[in-house]
Amino acid sequence: MDRDEEVALLGRTDSSKLKSRVKLAATGCALGIFAVLATVWFLDLGGFFQFDAARWVEITEDPIVSPVDRRAPVNFLALGDWGRHGLYNQSLVASQMGKIGGALEINFVVSVGDNFYKNGLTGVDDIAFDESFSRIYTAPALQKPWHAVLGNHDYHGDVFSQLDPRLGLRDWRWHCVRDAQLIFDLSPSLFRGDVDSRVSTVELFFVDTVPFIDQYWAPNQKHDFDWRDILPRHRHLQQKLENLTSALNASTASWKIVVGHHTIRSYGAHGDSVELVRQLLPILEGNNVDVYVNGHDHCLEHVKRDDSPIHFITSGGGSKAWKGISPPQNSNGLQFYYDGQGFVSFSVAESWLQIVYYNIYGEAVHKVRLTK
Ligand SMILES: [Zn+2]
Repeated sequence: MDRDEEVALLGRTDSSKLKSRVKLAATGCALGIFAVLATVWFLDLGGFFQFDAARWVEITEDPIVSPVDRRAPVNFLALGDWGRHGLYNQSLVASQMGKIGGALEINFVVSVGDNFYKNGLTGVDDIAFDESFSRIYTAPALQKPWHAVLGNHDYHGDVFSQLDPRLGLRDWRWHCVRDAQLIFDLSPSLFRGDVDSRVSTVELFFVDTVPFIDQYWAPNQKHDFDWRDILPRHRHLQQKLENLTSALNASTASWKIVVGHHTIRSYGAHGDSVELVRQLLPILEGNNVDVYVNGHDHCLEHVKRDDSPIHFITSGGGSKAWKGISPPQNSNGLQFYYDGQGFVSFSVAESWLQIVYYNIYGEAVHKVRLTK
């Protein structure tokens, strides 16, 4: 059997036979190995070698394009303010997320907080976890990791329960953290194995923004907040900001996305979070962050002001919305505002990043396209 016949067989055999045949090929000369790999890649046997490059589609700057007809190496949905036992159209939003998530072949979902209304979870056994999460987001495309931050309503309950790994035993998708960094490779994995070859990444930095907000600490605050592990507040915030600064500074990511619950810039019901404008925004701007995504305001919103390079993305339409708010057209930097329910998608490649906003009908109502 010559090498060409071997390559042809590789295209027809199952994965167990494939492994042995790849080993056989590996005993050949270096040129032979390269030929086998290149041909397998060409034959789109991506599942075996996990060649993400097989999903790569060269794109152009054509602005007239369906939001779901392009494939990026990393795709995810971002959703906030949702857990209401399926009510307030939560289930309808979930259904549309399933359709769009399937079309985009998403890798994961980001929850930007206020995960369980109105008072978080009472404990790791709280039935609300099933009724507002597991039994709602049932679409096959949503059976992916969910990376969540905490919102102010989550702090009204037992915060530790949402952070508890035992929730992952009830539903493996659930990953909730106070502060964390996620790194996704945007380079073709054909070249993986050599750290130096990882030339391009998108990195997500999750920040628990709840402790920043002064009004939650006021003596006349009518809600209880679970501040365990947060005290003393000043030291906690200082450490959080130092950690974020060094993580962002050390990052060489092509795209840096920061995720938090509270707004930085918004024309919704809560408006700007002045504490974050003062303490968080300078760090983001000083470390080349591209996008800040949040919830808290129950709307879909895009703000890009001339005085900041950052795109502010609000995705707080997971359930209860329609506050009756319509900001003036001349609001500083306001690119888009939708008062109703919905969610956003992110598609990220080395040289471009696309954010699409969807309403409850699954219609794309706004698109942000960034290139580098
Ligand atoms: Zn909130």
